[in-house]
Amino acid sequence: MSDDTCCARLPEGETCGRAPFDASLPFPLCTNHLFAIQRWDFREAAERFREQHPQPVVVRPDRSIVYYVRVGDRVKIGTTVKTVRQRFQGQLPPDAQVLATEPGSYEVERRRHRQFRHLQDANEWFHGGPELWEHIAQLREEHGTPDDLVE
Ligand SMILES: [Zn+2]
Repeated sequence: MSDDTCCARLPEGETCGRAPFDASLPFPLCTNHLFAIQRWDFREAAERFREQHPQPVVVRPDRSIVYYVRVGDRVKIGTTVKTVRQRFQGQLPPDAQVLATEPGSYEVERRRHRQFRHLQDANEWFHGGPELWEHIAQLREEHGTPDDLVE
């Protein structure tokens, strides 16, 4: 059997074997089988796959942290299971500063977002304010400064 014939398996168990549509295909498929794939409902199949393979819970509360990162005059309060640096992967401006972290996941994050709602700018972004600075100072006392915690 040659490599450059259609590799689709027929219902009888044999390989199709027709000439491939084009040499640029990642693997050889004839015109009929190429169009059979194009007509196939990927979205429906993906949904069925997700139903059959439910995702495990991604955030493990014992491992995740809520972080406070200052960029300019705003503070982002978010959650990550990685270190803060890994979370942002160089996307933060150089003057960004990790102010504090605390153990917790999205529930803690939501609680902080409610707590500082009066300072909220947009989504996870907050303006500075005495209550927020005091909270951050408390976290640093309790959980260390981010230089100790974040690589
Ligand atoms: Zn074929």
